Amino acid sequence: MNSLLANRKLFKEGQKILITTHYNPDADAIGSSLSLKNYFDKIGLKPQVWLPSSLPHHFSWMKGAQEVLDFEKAADRQIMQDSIGDFDWIFCLDFSGIGRIHGLSNLIKNTSTPKVIIDHHLDPENFADYYLHDTKAASTCELIFRLMQDWGDKSLIDSELGACMYAGIMADTGSFRHPNTTSEVHKIVAELIDLGVNTNRVHRKIFDSSSIDRLRFLGHLLSKRLEYLSEYHLALMWLTEEDQKQFHSQAGDTEGFVNYGLQVEGAIWAILLIERNDGVKLSFRSIEPFAVNQFAAQYFEGGGHKNASGGRIPKSNMEDAKKILMDVLPLQLDQINQVKNL
Ligand code: 5GP
Ligand code: MN
Repeated sequence: MNSLLANRKLFKEGQKILITTHYNPDADAIGSSLSLKNYFDKIGLKPQVWLPSSLPHHFSWMKGAQEVLDFEKAADRQIMQDSIGDFDWIFCLDFSGIGRIHGLSNLIKNTSTPKVIIDHHLDPENFADYYLHDTKAASTCELIFRLMQDWGDKSLIDSELGACMYAGIMADTGSFRHPNTTSEVHKIVAELIDLGVNTNRVHRKIFDSSSIDRLRFLGHLLSKRLEYLSEYHLALMWLTEEDQKQFHSQAGDTEGFVNYGLQVEGAIWAILLIERNDGVKLSFRSIEPFAVNQFAAQYFEGGGHKNASGGRIPKSNMEDAKKILMDVLPLQLDQINQVKNL
């Protein structure tokens, strides 16, 4: 693995840089992509951000958000297909499995343009030339901070760039409560505050920006689509296509929903199944020391972090997906029983 940090000289003024991140981007995905874009703008590079799916509206305030391209929009897709060969570098942020960029993966995989991965997920795939990869980092935004620091450019962090960074750090630490919240995280945030980042504004923009529909959708989930399976210490939640239609669900609306399951007393883990037109997506969350990433990888073509993972059951509807899940739950009983009294 070539380290990105030692190779600043590779990036020459005027070079075109493509920055991309994962499907259904969260605050860390968008925050890290736009922090890096804003940084590269400042040092004379020419960055563009391409997303495999749409930008959730609660990130539209971030500097540079209006210029991103979305592969799911036909006009943007055409531009992407026509210009994929124009870049000097491709930066892949907040993912390290090429499948996580869905429709964009073929375009990116098939270019010989040198690639850089900046990420904190486990088990990175070997498709890049340079890496800034650290599974101990709580967020990819933290790694962007480290990059700017190591390249001697920390002074270029202004309040707008810092706000993008703060968004990712705040979200991926669950607002500073997950076990990944190290003293390093707090030190970086302290610096961002000193640089003028309005952390309260960022929090409000991301968490206090729900439509009435979304809040009612959450109410529906909690009142009608949540079951506690005490034998498995599992809070199980699901949303059908019908539910999503009823509440006019938009991209990003279900972000954070799965975490509510962990508020059930006794729950060690929570699963949220979401029906999509191409199958069912699963989100897994757990409390220490119970790991969900192996479970996601073994049965649901997924993976992720120890306590926050995702996966999918392709070409399935909700009814079948629930059956598949119920079939594999008993296989977890040993592990559940080992940790339930800790
Ligand atoms: P979410 O439930 O928010 O979609 O995903 C939680 C975490 O699980 C993400 O931060 C990501 O690390 C991981 N994740 C989600 N979907 C997948 C997947 O399909 N494959 C892998 N390897 N990780 C995933
Ligand atoms: Mn992340």
